[in-house]
Amino acid sequence: MEVPFNNLFAQYQSLKPEIDDAISSVIAESAFVRGRFVEKFEQDFAEAIGIKHCVSCGNGTDALYIAIRALGLEPGDEVITTAHTWISTAETITQAGGRVVFCDTELDSFLIDVDQIESLITEKTRGIIPVHLYGQAADMDEIMAIAHKYKLWVIEDCAQAHLAEYKGQQVGTFGNAATFSFYPGKNLGAMGDAGAIVTNDDHLAEWMTLFARHGGKGDHQIEGINSRLDGIQAAILSVKLPHLPKWTAQRQSIAKQYETLLTGVSGTQTPLLKPDRSHVYHLYVIKSDKRDELQAFLSQHRIQAIVSYPLALPNCQAYNYLDKQGLRSAFVNATKNQSKILSLPIFPEISKISIGHIADTIKSFNL
Ligand SMILES: *Cc1c(COP(=O)(O)O)cnc(C)c1O
Repeated sequence: MEVPFNNLFAQYQSLKPEIDDAISSVIAESAFVRGRFVEKFEQDFAEAIGIKHCVSCGNGTDALYIAIRALGLEPGDEVITTAHTWISTAETITQAGGRVVFCDTELDSFLIDVDQIESLITEKTRGIIPVHLYGQAADMDEIMAIAHKYKLWVIEDCAQAHLAEYKGQQVGTFGNAATFSFYPGKNLGAMGDAGAIVTNDDHLAEWMTLFARHGGKGDHQIEGINSRLDGIQAAILSVKLPHLPKWTAQRQSIAKQYETLLTGVSGTQTPLLKPDRSHVYHLYVIKSDKRDELQAFLSQHRIQAIVSYPLALPNCQAYNYLDKQGLRSAFVNATKNQSKILSLPIFPEISKISIGHIADTIKSFNL
């Protein structure tokens, strides 16, 4: 039996008539960039998150850049983010003119360690970008309390956490703004690049819309960038969005099956679910003492497991400058985790038989 890491074609097949219709409608109207399909998706998505504004854009990385620029940084300003995430979260801080300040993660949840945030705050700190990594909500009460105390802005990176909740409230509604990615493999995925920023702040939404579209038309009010959502992607996303709660429940059910089958398997640790929140399992990340051998063993058995992410960001070449600041060794947990984490296949269409097969294969590796 072969088990791929994801199967986007299966999802397309389950919605083929609706998706094909949606694409044809956009072509029939030549509504390729912006237009009514994009406006509809912006409204649909804001409603799904329970927030006032959704500003669509080209991808989840642009979403972060646009949100950071909207909240404003002066040269030398610092933004705190987590040491173990996809690089978009950090690179956009630098691109927006700021300085990235990494915070270590918790060993068992992989989330930003909120107990370490305050020690990183200086006169120059302006904001915090928590990431709801792998689909689990970060500790938003603690993060918002720190932000209020030091008058910092908060941008939630929700790229992996569509519909995740913290104390019954959806992620994306806590900070000043929140960013989403609709990269094909994300929990809500387009058939190309797509992203969005959400906010309850009218002024921020207006500025971000302007900035993402060249700062206006004709008499440009500011210099902006070009980051627009395609009509075809928007129409596809509007077809998929109503299915997201069901897909999320399916991911959670698959995670439960893994949990039941893998708990107590020696040398293997299933992911921790912290209290008072939900996990939408964009990724199902186990820890293994012999990760590389286990990954190779699964691959021999035609099971595709991946590592997200093999290096904590401070350990990447792009951040070699941390050496000069003597900061390279400060990320103990993230560094420990980078060689233990392994993401197992999890997607709504995966069969119970495949899950059983993956669990059995892991057990036979550990015998
Ligand atoms: C995917 C992702 C992004 C970037 O989204 P793109 O649409 O690929 O640009 C940002 N942050 C995190 C945590 C992600 O997983």
